[in-house]
Amino acid sequence: MASAIVGFIILMYGVYAAPNSAYSLVSQLTISPDGTCGGSTNYTCQDSEFGSCCSTHGWCGSTNAYCGHGCQLDAGSCTTPETPTPTSTTTPSSKPTNSVPSSLIDCLSKTNVPTKFITDAEFSHLETAYNVRLQYTPAVIILPTTVQHVSSAVICANQNGIKVQARSGGHSYASFSIGGRDGSMVIDLQEFQNITVNSQGIAMVGGGVRLGNMAQSIYDLGRRALSHGTCPGVGIGGHFTHGGYGFASRIWGLAMDQIVGLDVVLANGSVVHATQTQFADIYYVSSRTVSSIYSRSS
Ligand SMILES: Cc1cc2nc3c(=O)[nH]c(=O)nc-3n(C[C@H](O)[C@H](O)[C@H](O)COP(=O)(O)OP(=O)(O)OC[C@H]3O[C@@H](n4cnc5c(N)ncnc54)[C@H](O)[C@@H]3O)c2cc1C
Repeated sequence: MASAIVGFIILMYGVYAAPNSAYSLVSQLTISPDGTCGGSTNYTCQDSEFGSCCSTHGWCGSTNAYCGHGCQLDAGSCTTPETPTPTSTTTPSSKPTNSVPSSLIDCLSKTNVPTKFITDAEFSHLETAYNVRLQYTPAVIILPTTVQHVSSAVICANQNGIKVQARSGGHSYASFSIGGRDGSMVIDLQEFQNITVNSQGIAMVGGGVRLGNMAQSIYDLGRRALSHGTCPGVGIGGHFTHGGYGFASRIWGLAMDQIVGLDVVLANGSVVHATQTQFADIYYVSSRTVSSIYSRSS
């Protein structure tokens, strides 16, 4: 029997953000003592021993931080991207040497989905686990820039019995976001960085956004704040779906309690917007129970 794939990839989170007049996350920044930056840390990477770029990941770096989207506000300089930005490739730049089914390669190459295989230069950086004790090697890493890319990749994986795993901030302790085992398809949402706040206080946040960037942006955009954890480099994808406990939780609850809607790609490649009244079963399973199915396979 083919491996089961994870049933959904969440692309966009709609969350209610409360007015935040009590305090500002933007205040005097001091040089980072530990390599974290931006967001609620109040640290800048400028002149930091960890490098001057405060990446969208919330980490300082001169060679390792991903600066493709520019620096966090006032937290460092990022003149040249330290890591190559994802490129759209219709075919892998070279043939993978690990055991990737040729039918999967063929399927992906027909769909114009940006892919990275083990023979691509960026692969080793992209596959690096937060917990280096649990390193797995994906069959392929997808770097989608559109919803259609995600949908097409999921369909290809499904047709080939390949397990799919989303990656947001990459902070899974068990390395589930690089598959939790070898040979998975990782869909890295680092290009889904959009953040908006509407007049009702609903923030729309892309699936690859880090907590530090989110906190900073919703404050800048609408003087709003959310309940979430304390580490700016953690991604919204894993954090808002597994719980998310932080300083404001005694007042506002867990991060997941604030989710009011999600754009979700299902295992058959279809895309739905799930709320309490629309695709309600998908809304509840994807905003409340993701932790229980993180790495499940048959
Ligand atoms: C340094 C550090 C500090 C932390 N601080 C806190 C804290 O203060 N409070 C707290 O509550 N927790 C905290 N955590 C725990 C953290 O919230 C979880 O590990 C969380 O799952 C990480 O989310 P991520 O997106 O960064 O990780 P990822 O590794 O990208 O994702 C984690 C899991 O979620 C899945 N996932 C990610 N994105 C999506 C998506 N879009 N759709 C479907 N599934 C998805 C992945 O497949 C994976 O299984 C911390 C963890 C670390 C390492």
